[in-house]
Amino acid sequence: MSVQNKTAVITGAASGIGLEIAHVFAANGANVVIADLNPEGAEKAAAEIRAKGGQALGLAMNVTDEVAVNAGIERAAKHFGSIDILISNAGIQIVKPVNELAYEDWKRMIAIHLDGAFLTTKASLNHMYAQGTGGSIIYMGSVHSKLASVLKAPYVAAKHGLLGLARVVAKEAAPHKVKANVVCPGFVYTPLVAKQIPEQAVTLGISEDDVVKKVMLKDTVDGEFTTTADVAACCLFLAGFETLALTGQSLIVSHGWAME
Ligand code: NAD
Repeated sequence: MSVQNKTAVITGAASGIGLEIAHVFAANGANVVIADLNPEGAEKAAAEIRAKGGQALGLAMNVTDEVAVNAGIERAAKHFGSIDILISNAGIQIVKPVNELAYEDWKRMIAIHLDGAFLTTKASLNHMYAQGTGGSIIYMGSVHSKLASVLKAPYVAAKHGLLGLARVVAKEAAPHKVKANVVCPGFVYTPLVAKQIPEQAVTLGISEDDVVKKVMLKDTVDGEFTTTADVAACCLFLAGFETLALTGQSLIVSHGWAME
């Protein structure tokens, strides 16, 4: 039950949840590949991990660009010798009611969350199948993989879609001992969420404090944000789990906001 000496590609790892996962996996002996749209952020994060004695490679990657994804996964495989774990985490948020949402914004959301998950999965699976040593794919879903909230149609649609992708990959990749699972966090205070608070305050006509207390955290058991460390711990558990007993599953980490 370990990620020691395994190579983990983490998309969107220059910030927030992905960055924490990169630090936690590196501290547990994984070779981490920080793949992000922001090349300086990816290199900075990789340098920080190397400075702490970990193994890390920073990569510029737009997960919606097939050529860039294939080139990045290839480079990571050459650099560390294998691709064992993919954490498809890159994501953005656009908050608008459906009747005001621009089609371009809908397509951008679906592209980053779903096309990105597909492209990185396809490229990683081909390495995992050729290596013949199994693997683990983890999609960063959300409580919004299970529930809906106003103003978040493309996000909710895409995050629900990841459950379907994970279940198909779990079935197709099982003969190669590759698992696919989804981690579903509640609100985590990262730049992605910090940006939404003033936006939602304006759209809903309430204070920023009320957006946090009466919208974001209202259904949690304790009024607390989930932390990046909570999410990274779930990913570490799933990535290190040895058998196919845990595949095609989704794990909600949300202070009880969603229960099933
Ligand atoms: P964040 O904004 O802190 O980090 C997202 C990272 O993704 C950034 O470094 C950004 O550069 C990168 N990125 C954006 N578009 C990209 C692209 N096309 N290609 C490659 N990289 C790209 O956000 P976060 O809160 O850490 O979110 C990470 C993931 O967790 C997202 O999928 C998000 O939907 C999910 N999530 C977040 C929360 C939350 O409350 N923060 C809750 C549930 C799920």
